[in-house]
Amino acid sequence: MRYISTRGQAPSLGFEDVLLTGLASDGGLYVPESLPHFSLEEIRSWRGLSYADLAFNVMYPFVEEAIPEDDFREMLKDTYGVFAHKAVAPLVQLDTNEWVMELFRGPTLAFKDFALQLLGRLLDYVLEKRKQHVVIMGATSGDTGSAAIEGCRRCEHVDIFILHPYQRVSEVQRRQMTTVAGDNIHNIAVKGNFDDCQRMVKESFGDQSFLGGKTQLAAVNSINWARIMAQIVYYFQASLSLGGPDRSMAFSVPTGNFGDIFAGYLAKKMGLPISQLVIATNKNDILHRFMSGNKYEQHQLEHTLSPSMDIMVSSNFERLLFDLHGRDGAAVKELLENASKGPVSIADYRWKSARKLFDSDAVDDKGTCDTIREVFDQNEYLLDPHTAIGVRAARNCRRDASVPMITLGTAHPAKFPDAVAESGVSVKPELPVHMADLFEREERYTVLDNNLSEVQGFISKHWKNA
Ligand SMILES: *Cc1c(COP(=O)(O)O)cnc(C)c1O
Repeated sequence: MRYISTRGQAPSLGFEDVLLTGLASDGGLYVPESLPHFSLEEIRSWRGLSYADLAFNVMYPFVEEAIPEDDFREMLKDTYGVFAHKAVAPLVQLDTNEWVMELFRGPTLAFKDFALQLLGRLLDYVLEKRKQHVVIMGATSGDTGSAAIEGCRRCEHVDIFILHPYQRVSEVQRRQMTTVAGDNIHNIAVKGNFDDCQRMVKESFGDQSFLGGKTQLAAVNSINWARIMAQIVYYFQASLSLGGPDRSMAFSVPTGNFGDIFAGYLAKKMGLPISQLVIATNKNDILHRFMSGNKYEQHQLEHTLSPSMDIMVSSNFERLLFDLHGRDGAAVKELLENASKGPVSIADYRWKSARKLFDSDAVDDKGTCDTIREVFDQNEYLLDPHTAIGVRAARNCRRDASVPMITLGTAHPAKFPDAVAESGVSVKPELPVHMADLFEREERYTVLDNNLSEVQGFISKHWKNA
Protein backbone atom coordinates (compact mmCIF):
# COMPACT_ATOMS: atom_id res chain seq x y z
CA MET A 1 0.00 0.00 0.00
CA ARG A 2 1.34 3.42 -0.97
CA TYR A 3 0.25 6.65 0.65
CA ILE A 4 -0.17 9.97 -1.18
CA SER A 5 -0.48 13.55 0.01
CA THR A 6 -3.78 15.47 -0.12
CA ARG A 7 -1.89 18.40 -1.68
CA GLY A 8 -0.48 16.35 -4.52
CA GLN A 9 3.17 17.43 -4.45
CA ALA A 10 4.96 15.35 -1.82
CA PRO A 11 6.42 11.96 -2.81
CA SER A 12 4.30 8.90 -2.09
CA LEU A 13 5.46 6.83 0.90
CA GLY A 14 5.10 3.32 2.32
CA PHE A 15 3.51 2.59 5.68
CA GLU A 16 6.68 2.85 7.79
CA ASP A 17 7.52 6.31 6.54
CA VAL A 18 3.94 7.50 6.87
CA LEU A 19 3.99 6.31 10.46
CA LEU A 20 7.10 8.34 11.25
CA THR A 21 6.10 11.43 9.27
CA GLY A 22 3.70 14.10 10.45
CA LEU A 23 2.64 16.48 7.72
CA ALA A 24 3.68 15.71 4.14
CA SER A 25 6.41 17.98 2.80
CA ASP A 26 3.84 19.92 0.73
CA GLY A 27 1.79 20.65 3.86
CA GLY A 28 -0.80 17.97 3.07
CA LEU A 29 -1.91 14.84 4.93
CA TYR A 30 -1.17 11.30 3.82
CA VAL A 31 -4.02 9.02 2.69
CA PRO A 32 -3.92 5.52 1.17
CA GLU A 33 -3.60 5.55 -2.60
CA SER A 34 -6.53 3.13 -2.73
CA LEU A 35 -8.72 1.48 -0.10
CA PRO A 36 -9.23 -2.24 0.40
CA HIS A 37 -12.82 -3.30 -0.27
CA PHE A 38 -14.54 -6.15 1.56
CA SER A 39 -17.58 -8.03 0.23
CA LEU A 40 -20.66 -8.55 2.42
CA GLU A 41 -19.82 -12.23 2.43
CA GLU A 42 -16.35 -11.58 3.75
CA ILE A 43 -17.57 -9.15 6.43
CA ARG A 44 -20.28 -11.63 7.43
CA SER A 45 -17.60 -14.29 7.95
CA TRP A 46 -16.05 -12.09 10.66
CA ARG A 47 -19.01 -12.46 13.04
CA GLY A 48 -17.94 -13.67 16.43
CA LEU A 49 -14.28 -12.76 16.08
CA SER A 50 -12.47 -11.22 19.03
CA TYR A 51 -11.76 -7.50 18.73
CA ALA A 52 -8.08 -8.16 18.03
CA ASP A 53 -8.83 -10.67 15.27
CA LEU A 54 -11.35 -8.35 13.66
CA ALA A 55 -8.81 -5.52 13.89
CA PHE A 56 -6.32 -7.71 12.05
CA ASN A 57 -8.72 -8.35 9.15
CA VAL A 58 -9.66 -4.69 8.80
CA MET A 59 -6.17 -3.23 9.12
CA TYR A 60 -3.76 -5.73 7.63
CA PRO A 61 -4.11 -4.48 4.03
CA PHE A 62 -2.78 -1.11 5.21
CA VAL A 63 0.39 -2.46 6.82
CA GLU A 64 1.17 -5.72 5.03
CA GLU A 65 4.36 -4.57 3.34
CA ALA A 66 5.83 -3.39 6.63
CA ILE A 67 4.82 -6.05 9.15
CA PRO A 68 4.62 -9.86 8.88
CA GLU A 69 1.22 -11.32 9.65
CA ASP A 70 2.14 -13.04 12.92
CA ASP A 71 3.87 -9.98 14.34
CA PHE A 72 0.86 -7.82 13.60
CA ARG A 73 -1.53 -10.32 15.16
CA GLU A 74 0.63 -10.42 18.28
CA MET A 75 0.77 -6.63 18.45
CA LEU A 76 -3.02 -6.33 18.23
CA LYS A 77 -3.58 -8.93 20.92
CA ASP A 78 -1.27 -7.00 23.18
CA THR A 79 -2.83 -3.62 22.28
CA TYR A 80 -6.45 -4.54 22.89
CA GLY A 81 -5.59 -6.78 25.83
CA VAL A 82 -4.96 -3.70 27.99
CA PHE A 83 -8.60 -2.60 27.76
CA ALA A 84 -10.64 -3.13 30.90
CA HIS A 85 -13.53 -4.86 29.14
CA LYS A 86 -13.48 -8.18 27.38
CA ALA A 87 -15.50 -6.84 24.42
CA VAL A 88 -13.05 -3.88 24.21
CA ALA A 89 -15.78 -1.63 22.73
CA PRO A 90 -19.02 -2.74 24.43
CA LEU A 91 -22.45 -1.49 23.34
CA VAL A 92 -24.95 -0.10 25.83
CA GLN A 93 -28.57 0.23 24.85
CA LEU A 94 -30.36 3.54 25.49
CA ASP A 95 -33.66 2.92 23.73
CA THR A 96 -35.26 0.77 21.04
CA ASN A 97 -32.61 0.63 18.34
CA GLU A 98 -30.48 3.29 20.02
CA TRP A 99 -27.02 2.55 21.42
CA VAL A 100 -23.83 4.00 22.85
CA MET A 101 -20.58 2.26 21.96
CA GLU A 102 -18.32 2.69 24.99
CA LEU A 103 -14.91 3.55 23.61
CA PHE A 104 -13.59 4.57 27.02
CA ARG A 105 -12.53 1.28 28.58
CA GLY A 106 -8.85 1.87 27.77
CA PRO A 107 -6.13 3.07 30.17
CA THR A 108 -6.96 6.79 29.92
CA LEU A 109 -10.75 6.48 29.66
CA ALA A 110 -11.15 8.10 26.24
CA PHE A 111 -11.39 6.70 22.73
CA LYS A 112 -7.94 8.00 21.83
CA ASP A 113 -6.52 4.88 23.51
CA PHE A 114 -7.74 2.78 20.57
CA ALA A 115 -5.32 4.51 18.26
CA LEU A 116 -2.49 5.51 20.60
CA GLN A 117 -2.07 2.12 22.27
CA LEU A 118 -1.47 0.74 18.79
CA LEU A 119 0.60 3.69 17.59
CA GLY A 120 3.13 3.28 20.42
CA ARG A 121 3.61 -0.40 19.57
CA LEU A 122 3.85 0.29 15.84
CA LEU A 123 6.46 2.97 16.40
CA ASP A 124 8.60 0.80 18.61
CA TYR A 125 8.38 -2.10 16.14
CA VAL A 126 9.46 -0.01 13.17
CA LEU A 127 12.17 1.83 15.12
CA GLU A 128 13.61 -1.44 16.41
CA LYS A 129 13.81 -2.72 12.85
CA ARG A 130 15.49 0.47 11.66
CA LYS A 131 17.68 0.91 14.73
CA GLN A 132 16.36 4.41 15.16
CA HIS A 133 15.13 6.54 18.04
CA VAL A 134 12.55 9.33 18.10
CA VAL A 135 11.48 12.02 20.51
CA ILE A 136 7.75 12.58 20.57
CA MET A 137 6.93 16.14 21.43
CA GLY A 138 3.36 17.25 21.87
CA ALA A 139 1.21 19.89 23.50
CA THR A 140 -2.03 18.93 25.17
CA SER A 141 -4.97 20.54 26.85
CA GLY A 142 -6.27 17.15 27.91
CA ASP A 143 -6.98 13.74 26.39
CA THR A 144 -4.32 13.36 23.72
CA GLY A 145 -1.38 13.83 26.07
CA SER A 146 -2.39 11.16 28.53
CA ALA A 147 -3.32 8.68 25.79
CA ALA A 148 0.02 9.27 24.04
CA ILE A 149 1.95 8.80 27.29
CA GLU A 150 0.13 5.56 28.07
CA GLY A 151 0.69 4.41 24.49
CA CYS A 152 4.46 5.01 24.67
CA ARG A 153 5.25 3.97 28.23
CA ARG A 154 6.79 0.66 27.20
CA CYS A 155 8.53 1.90 24.06
CA GLU A 156 12.28 1.32 24.05
CA HIS A 157 13.02 3.59 21.13
CA VAL A 158 10.82 6.53 22.02
CA ASP A 159 11.10 9.34 24.55
CA ILE A 160 7.97 11.39 24.99
CA PHE A 161 7.78 14.99 26.18
CA ILE A 162 4.28 16.37 26.70
CA LEU A 163 3.77 20.06 27.41
CA HIS A 164 0.67 21.17 29.26
CA PRO A 165 -0.28 24.65 30.48
CA TYR A 166 0.67 24.89 34.18
CA GLN A 167 -2.43 24.86 36.42
CA ARG A 168 -4.76 24.98 33.42
CA VAL A 169 -5.74 21.36 32.87
CA SER A 170 -8.22 19.47 35.05
CA GLU A 171 -6.82 17.49 37.95
CA VAL A 172 -7.95 14.15 36.51
CA GLN A 173 -6.35 14.98 33.19
CA ARG A 174 -3.09 16.13 34.80
CA ARG A 175 -2.83 13.10 37.04
CA GLN A 176 -3.46 10.77 34.13
CA MET A 177 -0.30 12.16 32.55
CA THR A 178 1.91 12.77 35.54
CA THR A 179 1.37 9.52 37.44
CA VAL A 180 2.62 7.26 34.66
CA ALA A 181 6.03 5.96 35.66
CA GLY A 182 8.74 5.38 33.08
CA ASP A 183 12.15 6.86 32.40
CA ASN A 184 11.11 7.75 28.84
CA ILE A 185 8.13 9.80 30.00
CA HIS A 186 8.57 13.50 30.62
CA ASN A 187 5.79 15.91 31.58
CA ILE A 188 6.49 19.61 31.31
CA ALA A 189 4.13 22.16 32.85
CA VAL A 190 4.69 25.42 31.01
CA LYS A 191 3.91 28.69 32.76
CA GLY A 192 1.71 29.85 29.90
CA ASN A 193 -1.44 28.80 28.07
CA PHE A 194 -2.17 25.99 25.64
CA ASP A 195 -1.34 28.15 22.61
CA ASP A 196 2.11 28.88 24.08
CA CYS A 197 2.70 25.14 24.42
CA GLN A 198 1.55 24.48 20.89
CA ARG A 199 3.71 27.25 19.47
CA MET A 200 6.80 25.81 21.13
CA VAL A 201 6.06 22.39 19.66
CA LYS A 202 5.57 23.86 16.21
CA GLU A 203 8.79 25.87 16.37
CA SER A 204 10.71 22.85 17.56
CA PHE A 205 9.49 20.78 14.61
CA GLY A 206 10.51 23.62 12.31
CA ASP A 207 14.08 23.70 13.64
CA GLN A 208 15.28 20.50 15.31
CA SER A 209 18.91 21.61 15.69
CA PHE A 210 18.54 21.60 19.50
CA LEU A 211 18.64 17.79 19.29
CA GLY A 212 22.12 17.91 17.80
CA GLY A 213 21.22 15.52 14.96
CA LYS A 214 21.26 12.53 17.36
CA THR A 215 17.52 11.85 17.24
CA GLN A 216 14.47 13.31 15.54
CA LEU A 217 11.03 14.55 16.49
CA ALA A 218 7.88 12.56 15.74
CA ALA A 219 4.24 13.61 16.02
CA VAL A 220 1.33 11.71 17.47
CA ASN A 221 -1.49 14.14 16.72
CA SER A 222 -4.53 13.03 14.77
CA ILE A 223 -3.03 13.84 11.39
CA ASN A 224 -1.02 10.61 11.77
CA TRP A 225 -2.58 8.08 9.38
CA ALA A 226 -2.10 5.15 11.77
CA ARG A 227 -4.50 6.76 14.22
CA ILE A 228 -7.28 6.98 11.64
CA MET A 229 -6.63 3.42 10.54
CA ALA A 230 -7.10 2.04 14.07
CA GLN A 231 -10.43 3.85 14.42
CA ILE A 232 -12.01 2.15 11.39
CA VAL A 233 -12.20 -1.14 13.26
CA TYR A 234 -14.85 -0.32 15.82
CA TYR A 235 -17.39 0.66 13.17
CA PHE A 236 -17.15 -2.91 11.89
CA GLN A 237 -17.33 -4.26 15.43
CA ALA A 238 -20.53 -2.33 16.24
CA SER A 239 -22.19 -3.33 13.01
CA LEU A 240 -21.34 -7.01 13.38
CA SER A 241 -22.74 -6.98 16.92
CA LEU A 242 -26.11 -5.62 15.78
CA GLY A 243 -26.86 -7.71 12.72
CA GLY A 244 -24.55 -6.16 10.14
CA PRO A 245 -23.58 -6.34 7.42
CA ASP A 246 -27.06 -7.64 6.58
CA ARG A 247 -28.61 -4.46 7.85
CA SER A 248 -27.31 -0.97 7.61
CA MET A 249 -26.26 1.19 10.60
CA ALA A 250 -26.30 4.87 11.56
CA PHE A 251 -23.52 6.47 13.62
CA SER A 252 -23.35 9.75 15.48
CA VAL A 253 -19.82 10.93 16.23
CA PRO A 254 -18.73 13.71 18.63
CA THR A 255 -16.29 15.54 16.38
CA GLY A 256 -13.36 17.91 16.80
CA ASN A 257 -10.57 17.33 14.33
CA PHE A 258 -12.74 15.10 12.11
CA GLY A 259 -10.52 12.06 12.73
CA ASP A 260 -12.99 9.69 14.33
CA ILE A 261 -15.83 10.38 11.90
CA PHE A 262 -13.49 10.24 8.92
CA ALA A 263 -12.71 6.68 10.01
CA GLY A 264 -16.46 5.92 9.80
CA TYR A 265 -16.56 7.32 6.29
CA LEU A 266 -13.66 5.02 5.37
CA ALA A 267 -15.43 2.00 6.90
CA LYS A 268 -18.35 2.75 4.60
CA LYS A 269 -16.08 3.05 1.56
CA MET A 270 -14.49 -0.27 2.50
CA GLY A 271 -17.84 -2.00 2.16
CA LEU A 272 -19.60 -1.70 5.53
CA PRO A 273 -23.28 -0.78 5.06
CA ILE A 274 -23.68 2.58 6.83
CA SER A 275 -26.74 4.63 5.89
CA GLN A 276 -26.12 7.69 8.05
CA LEU A 277 -23.11 9.47 9.59
CA VAL A 278 -23.88 12.38 11.91
CA ILE A 279 -21.23 15.01 12.61
CA ALA A 280 -21.89 16.18 16.18
CA THR A 281 -20.08 19.40 17.20
CA ASN A 282 -20.22 21.76 20.14
CA LYS A 283 -20.29 25.57 19.71
CA ASN A 284 -17.05 25.31 17.78
CA ASP A 285 -19.15 24.37 14.81
CA ILE A 286 -17.12 25.10 11.68
CA LEU A 287 -18.11 21.69 10.26
CA HIS A 288 -21.81 22.14 11.01
CA ARG A 289 -21.77 25.58 9.42
CA PHE A 290 -20.07 24.16 6.33
CA MET A 291 -22.54 21.30 6.05
CA SER A 292 -25.49 23.66 6.49
CA GLY A 293 -24.43 26.48 4.19
CA ASN A 294 -21.32 25.59 2.15
CA LYS A 295 -19.17 28.16 3.89
CA TYR A 296 -15.92 27.07 5.55
CA GLU A 297 -14.97 29.88 7.88
CA GLN A 298 -12.84 30.05 11.01
CA HIS A 299 -14.48 31.67 14.06
CA GLN A 300 -13.05 32.58 17.48
CA LEU A 301 -12.37 29.62 19.75
CA GLU A 302 -15.11 29.06 22.35
CA HIS A 303 -14.39 27.26 25.61
CA THR A 304 -17.12 24.72 26.29
CA LEU A 305 -17.98 21.88 28.66
CA SER A 306 -16.62 19.49 25.99
CA PRO A 307 -13.01 20.75 25.79
CA SER A 308 -11.71 17.90 23.62
CA MET A 309 -13.86 19.24 20.79
CA ASP A 310 -12.81 22.88 21.22
CA ILE A 311 -11.12 23.53 17.87
CA MET A 312 -11.21 26.32 15.30
CA VAL A 313 -10.39 24.22 12.21
CA SER A 314 -10.67 20.47 11.78
CA SER A 315 -7.35 19.28 10.43
CA ASN A 316 -8.56 15.92 9.11
CA PHE A 317 -11.34 17.54 7.12
CA GLU A 318 -8.68 18.04 4.48
CA ARG A 319 -8.78 14.30 3.85
CA LEU A 320 -12.48 14.46 3.00
CA LEU A 321 -12.00 17.57 0.85
CA PHE A 322 -9.43 15.60 -1.13
CA ASP A 323 -12.06 12.97 -2.01
CA LEU A 324 -14.76 15.59 -2.65
CA HIS A 325 -12.41 17.14 -5.21
CA GLY A 326 -11.85 13.89 -7.07
CA ARG A 327 -8.41 13.53 -5.37
CA ASP A 328 -7.10 16.63 -7.10
CA GLY A 329 -4.28 17.75 -4.78
CA ALA A 330 -3.74 21.07 -6.53
CA ALA A 331 -7.41 22.03 -6.01
CA VAL A 332 -7.19 21.12 -2.29
CA LYS A 333 -3.98 23.10 -1.88
CA GLU A 334 -5.54 26.19 -3.42
CA LEU A 335 -8.75 25.85 -1.40
CA LEU A 336 -6.94 25.50 1.94
CA GLU A 337 -4.50 28.29 1.21
CA ASN A 338 -7.52 30.52 0.58
CA ALA A 339 -9.25 29.17 3.68
CA SER A 340 -6.41 30.42 5.87
CA LYS A 341 -7.17 33.96 4.66
CA GLY A 342 -10.98 33.99 4.86
CA PRO A 343 -14.20 32.08 4.23
CA VAL A 344 -14.29 29.65 1.28
CA SER A 345 -16.94 27.56 -0.48
CA ILE A 346 -16.69 24.56 -2.77
CA ALA A 347 -18.52 23.84 -6.04
CA ASP A 348 -22.20 23.27 -5.35
CA TYR A 349 -22.28 19.70 -6.72
CA ARG A 350 -19.32 18.75 -4.53
CA TRP A 351 -21.01 20.23 -1.47
CA LYS A 352 -24.20 18.33 -2.30
CA SER A 353 -22.25 15.09 -2.40
CA ALA A 354 -20.88 15.90 1.08
CA ARG A 355 -24.46 16.46 2.28
CA LYS A 356 -25.38 13.02 1.00
CA LEU A 357 -22.62 11.50 3.10
CA PHE A 358 -23.11 13.41 6.36
CA ASP A 359 -25.73 15.04 8.53
CA SER A 360 -24.64 17.49 11.18
CA ASP A 361 -25.69 19.28 14.33
CA ALA A 362 -24.17 21.73 16.81
CA VAL A 363 -25.01 21.42 20.51
CA ASP A 364 -24.27 24.16 23.05
CA ASP A 365 -23.46 23.72 26.75
CA LYS A 366 -27.12 23.92 27.74
CA GLY A 367 -28.04 21.21 25.22
CA THR A 368 -25.13 19.14 26.55
CA CYS A 369 -26.29 19.42 30.18
CA ASP A 370 -29.95 18.82 29.23
CA THR A 371 -28.93 15.62 27.46
CA ILE A 372 -26.81 14.34 30.35
CA ARG A 373 -29.80 14.88 32.63
CA GLU A 374 -32.34 13.47 30.15
CA VAL A 375 -30.43 10.23 29.64
CA PHE A 376 -29.77 9.90 33.36
CA ASP A 377 -33.48 10.35 34.09
CA GLN A 378 -34.44 7.85 31.40
CA ASN A 379 -31.82 5.16 32.01
CA GLU A 380 -29.81 5.99 35.15
CA TYR A 381 -26.87 6.07 32.77
CA LEU A 382 -24.28 8.83 32.95
CA LEU A 383 -22.89 10.36 29.76
CA ASP A 384 -19.75 12.44 29.56
CA PRO A 385 -20.29 15.85 27.89
CA HIS A 386 -18.75 14.79 24.55
CA THR A 387 -20.88 11.67 24.27
CA ALA A 388 -23.92 13.70 25.32
CA ILE A 389 -23.40 15.91 22.27
CA GLY A 390 -23.33 12.79 20.13
CA VAL A 391 -26.57 11.48 21.63
CA ARG A 392 -28.30 14.86 21.23
CA ALA A 393 -27.25 15.07 17.57
CA ALA A 394 -28.30 11.46 16.97
CA ARG A 395 -31.76 12.17 18.36
CA ASN A 396 -32.09 15.42 16.39
CA CYS A 397 -30.85 14.09 13.04
CA ARG A 398 -32.20 10.56 12.94
CA ARG A 399 -33.68 9.65 9.57
CA ASP A 400 -35.00 6.11 10.01
CA ALA A 401 -36.05 4.58 13.32
CA SER A 402 -35.66 1.06 11.91
CA VAL A 403 -31.91 1.56 11.46
CA PRO A 404 -29.81 1.08 14.62
CA MET A 405 -28.36 4.44 15.72
CA ILE A 406 -25.00 4.13 17.48
CA THR A 407 -23.39 7.09 19.22
CA LEU A 408 -19.67 6.78 19.80
CA GLY A 409 -19.07 7.17 23.55
CA THR A 410 -15.76 9.02 23.43
CA ALA A 411 -14.98 9.51 27.13
CA HIS A 412 -15.86 8.19 30.58
CA PRO A 413 -18.01 10.64 32.60
CA ALA A 414 -15.54 10.54 35.52
CA LYS A 415 -13.07 12.45 33.34
CA PHE A 416 -15.45 15.41 33.30
CA PRO A 417 -17.12 15.54 36.72
CA ASP A 418 -17.71 19.31 36.52
CA ALA A 419 -19.94 19.02 33.45
CA VAL A 420 -21.87 16.21 35.09
CA ALA A 421 -22.36 18.35 38.21
CA GLU A 422 -23.44 21.32 36.11
CA SER A 423 -26.14 19.23 34.45
CA GLY A 424 -27.85 18.88 37.82
CA VAL A 425 -27.60 15.10 38.01
CA SER A 426 -27.43 14.13 41.65
CA VAL A 427 -24.78 11.39 41.44
CA LYS A 428 -21.05 11.85 41.04
CA PRO A 429 -19.38 9.77 38.33
CA GLU A 430 -16.95 7.30 39.91
CA LEU A 431 -13.59 6.42 38.42
CA PRO A 432 -13.45 2.76 37.34
CA VAL A 433 -11.93 0.39 39.88
CA HIS A 434 -8.59 0.12 38.09
CA MET A 435 -8.17 3.90 38.38
CA ALA A 436 -9.75 4.43 41.77
CA ASP A 437 -6.40 5.28 43.40
CA LEU A 438 -5.51 7.95 40.82
CA PHE A 439 -5.58 10.68 43.45
CA GLU A 440 -3.11 8.82 45.67
CA ARG A 441 -0.55 8.05 42.98
CA GLU A 442 2.74 9.92 42.92
CA GLU A 443 3.00 12.69 40.32
CA ARG A 444 6.10 13.61 38.35
CA TYR A 445 6.40 16.75 36.28
CA THR A 446 8.72 19.67 35.75
CA VAL A 447 7.53 23.27 35.77
CA LEU A 448 9.33 25.45 33.22
CA ASP A 449 9.03 29.08 32.17
CA ASN A 450 7.22 29.97 28.99
CA ASN A 451 10.50 30.07 27.11
CA LEU A 452 11.48 28.02 24.06
CA SER A 453 15.17 27.64 24.76
CA GLU A 454 14.49 26.52 28.32
CA VAL A 455 12.08 23.84 27.10
CA GLN A 456 14.39 22.72 24.30
CA GLY A 457 17.33 22.64 26.70
CA PHE A 458 15.35 20.38 29.03
CA ILE A 459 14.49 17.99 26.18
CA SER A 460 18.02 17.82 24.79
CA LYS A 461 19.32 16.99 28.25
CA HIS A 462 16.73 14.41 29.28
CA TRP A 463 16.07 12.06 26.39
CA LYS A 464 17.41 8.59 27.03
CA ASN A 465 20.74 8.60 25.20
CA ALA A 466 21.41 12.31 25.45
C1 LIG B 1 -10.44 13.86 20.77
C2 LIG B 1 -11.83 13.73 21.29
C3 LIG B 1 -12.97 13.97 20.48
C4 LIG B 1 -12.85 14.45 19.04
O1 LIG B 1 -12.31 13.49 18.18
P1 LIG B 1 -11.78 13.90 16.73
O2 LIG B 1 -11.18 12.67 16.17
O3 LIG B 1 -10.80 15.01 16.94
O4 LIG B 1 -12.98 14.36 15.95
C5 LIG B 1 -14.23 13.77 21.04
N1 LIG B 1 -14.37 13.38 22.33
C6 LIG B 1 -13.32 13.15 23.13
C7 LIG B 1 -13.56 12.75 24.54
C8 LIG B 1 -12.02 13.31 22.65
O5 LIG B 1 -10.96 13.09 23.48
